[in-house]
Formats: sequence, C-alpha cells, structure tokens
Amino acid sequence: KQRELEELRDLPAVTHDGHKVILRANIGLLSDIRIAHANGADGVGLYRSEFPYMARACFPTREELFSLYRKVLEGFAPQSVTIRTLDIGGDKTLPYFTTPKEDNPFMGWRSIRVSLEREDIFRVQLAGVLLASPYGKMRLMFPMVSSIGEIWQIKNILGEVREELIREGQPVADDIQFGIMVELPAAVQTAHILIKEVDFFSIGTNDLIQYTMAADRNNPKVRKYYDPYQPAVIHSIKRVADVAHAAGKPVCICGEMAAEPINAILLFGMGIDEFSLAAPSIPAVKRAFRLVDSATAQEIARQVVALESAGAIRALLEEAAARLN
Ligand code: PEP
Ligand code: MG
Repeated sequence: KQRELEELRDLPAVTHDGHKVILRANIGLLSDIRIAHANGADGVGLYRSEFPYMARACFPTREELFSLYRKVLEGFAPQSVTIRTLDIGGDKTLPYFTTPKEDNPFMGWRSIRVSLEREDIFRVQLAGVLLASPYGKMRLMFPMVSSIGEIWQIKNILGEVREELIREGQPVADDIQFGIMVELPAAVQTAHILIKEVDFFSIGTNDLIQYTMAADRNNPKVRKYYDPYQPAVIHSIKRVADVAHAAGKPVCICGEMAAEPINAILLFGMGIDEFSLAAPSIPAVKRAFRLVDSATAQEIARQVVALESAGAIRALLEEAAARLN
C-alpha cells in the first residue's frame, strides 16, 4: 500500500469522471517544502506564518521575512502559495512577546485581533509579504475574522503598506488574491456579507468545530463534542460553500477534517473547490478521489446534509468508505 501511495505522487487527483481536484499542502517551516513536494502537493493552501516566528528569539525584520517568504514562493512557483498572517494566541505563543494572562485564551486576544491592535508587528509582516510577492504566485489570507469591519481595517493597512513600498521604488505584485479564513460561527452567519470583500474563503475546520461546538480543540475531556460530523458543523460548511459559489468565488478547506479521505469526498460533494492538508495525508486522499465519481460524491453529500445526528452521519460515511476500498 505504501508503494501504491508513492506511485500516486505524480498522478493528478482526478475523479473517475474526469473532475480535477486541487490538493494543496499545509506548511509551516521551510523544511515542509520538501515534504509537500514528496507528497505531490499542488502548491500551498495554508502557510502557517506564525511557525517561523515561534522558532525564533525575537521578532523578524521585514528583510528577514522577505527572504523567507521569497524562498517559500520560489519553492512552489508557478503553483500558488496562500500565506496566512500571524495566528498567535490561544495555544500558540511567542517566547519574546508577553501577552496578558487570560481566563479564556481561545476566546481572547489572539490571531487577527493581535495584528489589528499591534499594527507595528502587522505592518512589518505585510511589508515582508508584499516584498516577496513578485517571486511567485501569492494568495494572502487572514485568520479568525469575525466581522466586515476587520476586513476594512486590514485593507486600509495593507493599502498603506503597499503605497509605502511603491514610494520606496520596490516592485510589488498587483495580482495577489485576498481571502479570509472562515473559522468562527460569526463568519459563517455573515458569509453573504463577507464574501463581497474577498476573492476567496478558506474554511478552517479545526477552529470552526471548536467554536461551533464550544469544545476546546485540545481538551481530551470534551473530545466527543469536538465532532466534524455534528450537523451544526456540516450545515455551516454547506452554507459557506453555497454563499461563495453564488458569488462565483472559490472555497478551500484547510482544517484537519479533510485529511480523512471519505471526509474529503463528502466535502467535494458539498462543493468545496480546493483542499489543503498536512502533506503526508495527500496521497491517501488523492487515491480516494481517483476511485470515486462526482455524482457519487454529490449523492453522499446530499444524504449527509439531510441527516439529523452525528451518529447517523458517521454510520453513512463508514459505509461509503468501505464501499470505496
Ligand atoms: C483551522 O483552524 O482549521 C486551521 C486550519 O488553522 P489552525 O489549525 O492553524 O488554527
Ligand atoms: Mg484556525
């Protein structure tokens, strides 16, 4: 089976009826570039940019960020790399950045909230990103967005950083796609508003499950509540996919949920356009797509969306997975 998965590396993820599915990698450090290629990734759908910050002893300069991001972009060109801006707080801390002690860190000062309040840090990162932008195909996305006001703020800051660089005479790409992560119930409920401001959505199921089910993603005590098959989660994903498609824009999934092959097929059947996975999960997902046709995936999705409990959904998917193998 291992050999079979290796042979899959250079084959496309096409369904039986010829529909090409895009499978990108989630990466964090430069060493992940090799792993992504070894698993046949179509570029990067989630570059967790906080990882290099976490591995350092102080904040990087914009030149350091530029050379890092340039290496990542060049490592995948002409395929695209989706850079996500700093997503710290919650369980991810920087040794050199002290944040206030909080009773509920996951509901607290994290992610885009830190970037929008500490504009000094955010601007350095955005400058690094924009300086690297001519060296590959870049998409830029922002984590933990909860309302349209944050998107306006991000766009203002991004526009100012871009103008400063252009005034300095620096080349900056003008075709960078702008997206947000949909990972809060607030973003799901207002997806029809948020979609107007972005080029794409990327659903972060890790946080979306956590916040929808009010179950800490790292707490084994509430593991049974942290369930991607809860109808609350399934309907959220369906809604986001439908809203994006009605606006003619693509939706990616970059949470761990899609790493399970039958889940990827379900999500594809629900209309998800692109997947971004931990690279070692790509071959098995690709294998599953090559065994299924779109009509079957859509039928699985139609049935799952109509079910009323996580248990019934799990049973249906287990059966569908067994039929695939
Ligand atoms: C997510 O929340 O699903 C996600 C992909 O981002 P992270 O796991 O880095 O929070
Ligand atoms: Mg997240």
